[in-house]
Amino acid sequence: MLDMTPKEVKERTALNINPCKACQPVGAMYAALGVNNCMPHSHGSQGCASYHRMLLSRHFKEIALASSSSFTEGASVFGGRSNVTTAVKNIFEMYNPEIIAIHSTCLSETIGDDLYSYIAEIAIPEGKQVVYSSTPSYVGSHIYGFFNMMLGFMNCLTQKTGTPNGKTAIFPGWVNPADIRELKRLTKLMNVPATFFPDQSGVMDTPMTGHYKMYPDGGTTVAEIKGLGDSEGLIALGEIVSTEPAELLRKKWKVPFTMLPLPVGIDFTDQFIMALRNQSKMEVPSEIETERGQLVDLLIDSHQYTYKKKVAIFGDPDVVLGLTSLALEMSMIPKYVISGTPKEAFADSVRALFEKYNVADQCTVKAGTDLFKLHQWIKNEPVDLLIGSSYGKQIARAEDIPFVRAGFPVIDRYAGTILPIVGYAGGIRMAERIVNTLLDRFDRDVKDEDFELVL
Ligand code: SF4
Repeated sequence: MLDMTPKEVKERTALNINPCKACQPVGAMYAALGVNNCMPHSHGSQGCASYHRMLLSRHFKEIALASSSSFTEGASVFGGRSNVTTAVKNIFEMYNPEIIAIHSTCLSETIGDDLYSYIAEIAIPEGKQVVYSSTPSYVGSHIYGFFNMMLGFMNCLTQKTGTPNGKTAIFPGWVNPADIRELKRLTKLMNVPATFFPDQSGVMDTPMTGHYKMYPDGGTTVAEIKGLGDSEGLIALGEIVSTEPAELLRKKWKVPFTMLPLPVGIDFTDQFIMALRNQSKMEVPSEIETERGQLVDLLIDSHQYTYKKKVAIFGDPDVVLGLTSLALEMSMIPKYVISGTPKEAFADSVRALFEKYNVADQCTVKAGTDLFKLHQWIKNEPVDLLIGSSYGKQIARAEDIPFVRAGFPVIDRYAGTILPIVGYAGGIRMAERIVNTLLDRFDRDVKDEDFELVL
């Protein structure tokens, strides 16, 4: 007979097993792909650049354009100055971007390459730009790389002319292109002129036209990034990914910001709509009210199937916080909530949600942990549903748990990046997937004699 006694789950500090994160340059590359006419450049070995591009391509099912300093043994010992100098020259000559966004890697950071001084000595062609960010992969996660690359763009490019540009800056954080399209749609409906930075819509979700464009039409333009300092205000989404860029804009150019959670679910989307309302001073249009009402209606109608269902949620902190809020709105118990990104602010925000919904004594949250730990917890006390990236499929299979894929990366399913999870429309989509996944499991497990009764 199987021994079902709960086993002690030991704390580990020196080892990650089945990480719930990727390395910083992946995030830096994704942030740079959200800039128009930009070539992301990886200052390290070709192998690193290949891995980062491959992970992004597998998730987005699109080409992740990037170049590499192509370190070999010589550069690894003597430094990559000549590699990056030659690379910048070649990239502008051969691929003609408007801007090159360079990020470092484990190797270049470990040998102490001083990219600032290298770039300062490179002759940059007239009208072109080179920006740089430090993204050591052994610190943080891909989320750190994302905001560090944003800081790199902002440090090098932003200005203040003294004449406000009449726009609200919006930092959408690490989300899929479909989410940015949805945020833009809501922003337009609320009549708020805005600059989204970065903006991967129109870059990592391009339609098939039969014509290849090395630099697709989407992305924040260099002129728009320069103009961020003249913004009337900033709405920063996702506390973990957007706080440092928002602080930089405030400190550097005195642009005030409103920090909000990623608008997943009813409450967090309400906060986003109210922030837009504060900017535009207009009433919320009936189109948005209808979508909200439909989401509320769906949650009430399906409540009997989600009530008290235990769910484990894992992935990137801001997305996980939003999904946890939605799960609680669906009367579920977010039994285990984890992120691989080591930011305690995430755990504090999730705990505040637990307190608000009075479930703190039933739920556990942990930042900076891995999927092995989550699996150990689930073995001790199972859950009814798992929500997270494709890396959870082994747990779902081993423990026979229904699984809803969301977050990054989702490499073994399609269309996730062209369908949103943010806003009321995104909430409807996520609620539909959660409820119907639970119902599929119910249909699978129900006894033959009861099967007719459930129709
Ligand atoms: S962790 Fe370091 S060595 Fe590995 S792919 Fe990322 S940058 Fe390269």
